[in-house]
Amino acid sequence: MKTSKGYPRFVTPNFEPFDPVELAKETKRIVTRTGPRGLERKYEDFYATGVYGGIATGYCVGCCFRCVFCWVSWARDFPEKFGQLHSPEKAFSRLREAAHKYKVNKLRISGAEPALGKSHLLSLLEYVEESEFPIFILETNGILFGVDKDYVKKMAKFTKPHIRISLKAGTPEDFTKKTGAKPEAFEIPFQAIRNLLDHNVSFHVASMSADPRIMTPDERTNLMKKLAEIDPRLLSSLEEEVMDGYNTTLARLKLAGLEVKWPLKQVYTPVKELLKKGKRSSGAS
Ligand code: SF4
Repeated sequence: MKTSKGYPRFVTPNFEPFDPVELAKETKRIVTRTGPRGLERKYEDFYATGVYGGIATGYCVGCCFRCVFCWVSWARDFPEKFGQLHSPEKAFSRLREAAHKYKVNKLRISGAEPALGKSHLLSLLEYVEESEFPIFILETNGILFGVDKDYVKKMAKFTKPHIRISLKAGTPEDFTKKTGAKPEAFEIPFQAIRNLLDHNVSFHVASMSADPRIMTPDERTNLMKKLAEIDPRLLSSLEEEVMDGYNTTLARLKLAGLEVKWPLKQVYTPVKELLKKGKRSSGAS
């Protein structure tokens, strides 16, 4: 499937912000196809990595953000050129093979936006649910779970998935600068969090908020306030990240016209540490 003429690739200094919901629809057309065994989706590779204590991973193709600090391969920007289509059954079998080969018992889809292709993911989860694997990690930017509550409801019937929802910014303006998406979409990932809470789906929030090079203290405070307004407990489990200097990250920062100093010299104290200290000093249990 070809891309449209204006298909966004990466953020540049004078880029036109895009609607991530529309971009998700267009990217889905590029990276999926209806096949005899359900909706097929493009993956670049299947392997295992040491994160989460060892996990078999399907590296999928296609995203609806264009984050300036994104580390994933150029398949994010040029999804029509990379990856091979897999039915849900085939994707599960490749994940199982990787898990057996590397002797790990967790599964994951990562690499871009795994929630693109609703029926592919839901069918894949049927196979996971029946399998010997106890946990399936899904790493998402939250756009699709924010606009489609039925998707979250259907996820809730499975016992194995744990969702890691990754927030990119603390204000609408910063959201646009960092993801390329229009500021009105800033609220959508927060709505995804509400939807996940409403349906009691296992999840935690990650945010690119430990790195002062790309998040000011004010922006970070705003992000924390927004999370606390939804549920203060989200802060105690918050996974705060910093940017890593992958080649793709460095290239995308340069394309966006952003100068970032390496190596990283200072990180913010994680909010969950501050909360623990606060509790200790106030004598709370
Ligand atoms: S960091 Fe994640 S959400 Fe952002 S563009 Fe890369 S894959 Fe997509």
